[in-house]
Amino acid sequence: MERKVRVRFAPSPTGPLHIGGVRTALYNYLFAKQHGGDLLLRIEDTDQTRFVPGAEQYIIEAFEWLNIKFDEGVGIGGDCGPYRQSERKPMYKQYADYLVENGHAYYAFDTAEELDKYRKQCEAEKKTFQYDASTRMGLKNSLAMPEEEVKKLLNDGTPYVIRIKIPEGETVELDDMIRGHVKVQTSVLDDKVLFKSDGMPTYHLANIVDDHLMRITHVIRGEEWLPSAPMHVLLYRYLGWADTMPQFAHLPLLLKPDGNGKLSKRDGDRLGFPVFPLQWTDPKTGDISSGYRETGYFPEAVVNILALLGWNPGNDEELLSMDDLIRLFSVEHISKSGAKFDLEKAKWFNHQYLQRHSNEEIAKLFLPELKQRGINADFAYVENVVSKVKERANFVSDLWKNSYYLFEAPTSYSEQAVKKRWKDGTAAHLTNIADMLEALTPFDRQQAHDQTMDYITSHELGVGQIMNCIRLSIVGDTVGIDLFEMIDMLGKDESIKRIRKAIETINR
Ligand code: GLU
Repeated sequence: MERKVRVRFAPSPTGPLHIGGVRTALYNYLFAKQHGGDLLLRIEDTDQTRFVPGAEQYIIEAFEWLNIKFDEGVGIGGDCGPYRQSERKPMYKQYADYLVENGHAYYAFDTAEELDKYRKQCEAEKKTFQYDASTRMGLKNSLAMPEEEVKKLLNDGTPYVIRIKIPEGETVELDDMIRGHVKVQTSVLDDKVLFKSDGMPTYHLANIVDDHLMRITHVIRGEEWLPSAPMHVLLYRYLGWADTMPQFAHLPLLLKPDGNGKLSKRDGDRLGFPVFPLQWTDPKTGDISSGYRETGYFPEAVVNILALLGWNPGNDEELLSMDDLIRLFSVEHISKSGAKFDLEKAKWFNHQYLQRHSNEEIAKLFLPELKQRGINADFAYVENVVSKVKERANFVSDLWKNSYYLFEAPTSYSEQAVKKRWKDGTAAHLTNIADMLEALTPFDRQQAHDQTMDYITSHELGVGQIMNCIRLSIVGDTVGIDLFEMIDMLGKDESIKRIRKAIETINR
């Protein structure tokens, strides 16, 4: 029987979620939705030493913002719960015991100091220490020690861990949906700890047990887990679950913009763009890392950007909505090589989504900034301003620098522009033009334009020079939207007032 597709995103709450993790979750979501399957959110918090308060809530909030919806898991529920591994603690021991009973795992009593000593010894001999078939018989474990001694240590309550017994001289094979057929010699694998002395399973054991109990069909995760996959295959086999082992897909890394190495949590603010979906305040140091949301990205843009970092739809279509992505997504089009983050491209995406939002929506987002600047404009006017300047903006926060003059009169004039444009006779000409515009009742934009042009031609003046001086008077600089459009928006009175004020101020 065809199994229902069930995938999971399984973050460890060790801090804010990196955009690489967000991309992993997104691909899982697209895959699940495309196949009419389920996406689960499982929190892998077995490493208590790395637990960071607030991280889980951050993860949930980030996905809410991005509109990536889970069908089951932490904060939602479902029939495979609990979905927080720390709450599943009592479930794992039996599987570790089962592996020991069947000869696929063993107790190890070596202390951290002892293992450190071996490691250092090996380092001195320019070798790397590995707990495996070549070393285990010389170490303190239930394979190397007499049964009586092991029993005694256990009865005495000596701390121990349970390690997987990696077989000697075997080849483990698996078919990765992205990497293809992978073959690994067991001699390169080490006897990883499955169960720790604090009574908690490690990631490896908990991950396999949970994927099995949660009926996961596909494991789509970052490439950093590829080296562990062969050991996971062995665990499925030893636990008797080989038949329902999920299919693996290991995603390529997200790289720094220059392609040199993995994009890390520390890169973001250093390279000038966020690496986290939402802003994060470190609970210990109070350090703030920027987020896409706070930087002004639209969630749809972030989804679109991340979807295309490592995947393509097979053609050059770039602007894809969540629905498009669900329809077009395919594991075959995920690349094997790492994907470079491109900041300019990211801004371009946001620009595109900003254009797609209605003027009304953008105006609403612009209002708080206007209010903060003490500007109380009519909503319809703000909407109109947005319609005129949004084409020049990548972010809502770019609107002000492109439209300030439509809200307030200049209090100074660009010295450089004055020097370049303001000539001896300019004041007299601008006074005449202002008088002329004043006489235009009712005021009409086209007429204002035509009469100004006539004035310039009949006085044999430079169009650029005069027009720029009018603009300078109204804006304070030689920037902005079409001059007569600007005059029309500000209204006759305000425009003329600004021209007269400039004449007075600049000539002084
Ligand atoms: N907890 C692991 C992580 O945070 C999950 C890896 C997996 O998906 O198997 O990367």
